[in-house]
Amino acid sequence: MKRALLIIDYTDDFIADEGALTVGKPGQDLHAYILGLAEGFYGAGDYLAFMVDEHEPDDPYHPETQLFPPHNLAGTPGQEMYGDLQKFYESIQDSPQTLHRMKTRYSAFAGTDLFIKLRERQINELHLVGVSTEICILHTAIDAFNLGFKVYIHQEGVASFSAEGHEWALNHFRNVLGFAVI
Ligand code: ZN
Repeated sequence: MKRALLIIDYTDDFIADEGALTVGKPGQDLHAYILGLAEGFYGAGDYLAFMVDEHEPDDPYHPETQLFPPHNLAGTPGQEMYGDLQKFYESIQDSPQTLHRMKTRYSAFAGTDLFIKLRERQINELHLVGVSTEICILHTAIDAFNLGFKVYIHQEGVASFSAEGHEWALNHFRNVLGFAVI
């Protein structure tokens, strides 16, 4: 178990038509790819980390409160995985190969025990999917860069509200972080 798949914010609030802060169709188009990748990693004995945004309503101290409409509020259905990924997650949630963590910042490493879990398992290689490319994927990738991980960004597994932001981030992964975009 030396690889991990990080599934970042692939939740109803970020993906579903009725989601509170939805990427919409570009996000929905990732569904089959992410589900297939998750099944593949699990079948190969690799580690899966479902990293999920979480906010309190109208939190006056949270920097996102001024920037975005309320989303992924604690305990709401908007935090569930989108589509069939939720069923898949439920089928493996008790496995030692599965991690599910709430995060309150863009990076999946900020304020979570993700790094400790990866180090315990001597996992050096991370595969990133989810949304959005130039926000939570980017900030997670920068932390992974600073922590010395080898990182693969799956082009068919990431999307954004902004086509321009998406392309900019893919170039940044390749040309500034030196990560493989596959
Ligand atoms: Zn958020």
